Amino acid sequence: MITSFSITFVVIVFIVIYFRLYLYLFPKNRLTILMYHQIDIKSDDDLTVSLENLEKQFEYLRRRKYHPKFFRDIDTRHNNSIIITFDDGYKNNYDYLPYLLEKFNLKATIFIPTKFIQEGYKDYEMMSFEEIRSLDKRCFEIALHSHSHKSFRDSTTNFIKADLQENMKILKDHQIEFSKVLAYPYGKYPKKKTEKEKLFLNLKNSGILFAVRIGNKINYFPTKNSYELQRIDIKGTDTLIKFKLKLIFGKLKLF
Ligand SMILES: [Zn+2]
Repeated sequence: MITSFSITFVVIVFIVIYFRLYLYLFPKNRLTILMYHQIDIKSDDDLTVSLENLEKQFEYLRRRKYHPKFFRDIDTRHNNSIIITFDDGYKNNYDYLPYLLEKFNLKATIFIPTKFIQEGYKDYEMMSFEEIRSLDKRCFEIALHSHSHKSFRDSTTNFIKADLQENMKILKDHQIEFSKVLAYPYGKYPKKKTEKEKLFLNLKNSGILFAVRIGNKINYFPTKNSYELQRIDIKGTDTLIKFKLKLIFGKLKLF
């Protein structure tokens, strides 16, 4: 009894691994979205990637011939595409990313919560509007991360609508071009179906094309889940091996 159960379990695990590997090796319509926050010379926290690790990861993406994309370039054909995203608009993105993106011929999308740029965020140094505007458009895409960076999970329709309008208006007022793509603050949005549908209608009415959550899975296009695109959370402490495994399996759990 126990033996047959074990065999069944091993077979299922094998099939899951094999299937994920198959998808990885035949990457048609595959869109991987990576999520980062801060960059620093050295790091021992999850939200900050060290310069050395980021360089190794970018070099690997180049070597594996991933196609760097912006959200605004998404169409129905996706062969091994990758979108590299950074949240919140930290000044260290401005300091380190232009050189790295150019070196490895990659692109990045930065999600900006406009209130953080206006008023700052904790003790972190954020980019200024001038710095955001000056980023090279060949390497950078700017997108939305709400104005106030409050969770959308329990917010009212009116609050979300006004908050998104504010986010877009402030960028426009500073002549910053942006894509109508939203990263949910904290990756959070309603879980209940009816609430979720209300939010998605709200996003649609606000002209939002895509919204990203965390989720840690690879996306396949065309998708029915334009407002639930999944990002892989690359942690500051991830080794290169862990990074490579995340690119294959997304979440590092089998089920
Ligand atoms: Zn954020």
